Amino acid sequence: IQEGRVVIVGSGIIGCSWAMAFASAGFQIKLYDIKQEQITKALENIGKQMKELEKIGMLKGSLKSDQQLALIGGCTDLKSAVEGAVYIQECTPENLEIKKKIFNQLDNIVSNDTVLASSTSCILPSKIFTGLKHVKQCIVAHPVNPPYFVPLVELVPHPETEPSIIEKTFALMKKIGQSPVKLMKEIDGFALNRLQYAIISEAWRLVGDGVISPHDLDLVMSDGLGMRYAFMGPLETMHLNAEGILNYCDRYRDGMIRVLKSFGPIPDFAGETEQKINQAMCEQTPADPAHLNARRRWRDECLLHLAKLKMEV
Ligand code: NAD
Repeated sequence: IQEGRVVIVGSGIIGCSWAMAFASAGFQIKLYDIKQEQITKALENIGKQMKELEKIGMLKGSLKSDQQLALIGGCTDLKSAVEGAVYIQECTPENLEIKKKIFNQLDNIVSNDTVLASSTSCILPSKIFTGLKHVKQCIVAHPVNPPYFVPLVELVPHPETEPSIIEKTFALMKKIGQSPVKLMKEIDGFALNRLQYAIISEAWRLVGDGVISPHDLDLVMSDGLGMRYAFMGPLETMHLNAEGILNYCDRYRDGMIRVLKSFGPIPDFAGETEQKINQAMCEQTPADPAHLNARRRWRDECLLHLAKLKMEV
């Protein structure tokens, strides 16, 4: 069992997955939410998931599922949840007003060395944390859904975040088996979503322009680029696909610039292309909770196998 308690604020999709990640490393966790029913549901759901993972030999950590579940307690009183906490991971809905309100409440009750981290996907640290007494202790720790299966966490500091807080968060993420990366400064979309939106944008244009079907577009990623992207990024790919980066640029610079110049404007993500992509996606997985959840379970299983493979290579 680890020293120091972790608090998860908001027990939705991301909050539950964070709780499982911390429990796998033996941390004691308080799961806070405004609604008791939500906490009860979250704990039930976490217990069920842990048992299922244990059954297939894929529960993370050295503790049994019962021991891990026993580390997580629910709480609807923020003050008692936060008492003695070393680290707080906020996972409330992606809404600036809700986040500002909760960080203001936390600002009045936390000690001077608790790390205050937000899971926000796209709100800048300066929007959430500016003006707080404890701004030096605040950081964005943006996970990828679901963090239990996908290790990357983007650490994005506020301009006033203390370097020691960045280091503490980095070390904690490593300890629970995540893969933290540090952004040196804040930028809209952080790094992950900027890359993701660049891909989505060109995918949308290729389908919209009638170059490729939605199904085949997805295969270009899952059976093509994605195969190596699970192990190395685009920069190392360049390095290996020629005799090093310098040689790659020498060979492909002009071609890359020519192709990039032919990219169209930002799509509106609406209208005919939206209909076409929706129809193709729904043929594969109808957009109702039962089908979506079944497909998500399949995705999570694939991610688990991939995570196992990555540990072996
Ligand atoms: P969610 O809607 O599933 O969960 C939000 C939870 O917060 C709910 O349980 C709700 O009851 C609770 N809540 C609402 N107001 C609260 C308050 N004042 N105090 C405490 N709890 C409160 O949302 P989610 O998908 O888990 O997302 C949470 C955060 O994580 C968001 O900022 C989101 O951008 C970020 N995130 C989400 C994903 C994703 O793919 N879902 C990925 C990365 C980051």
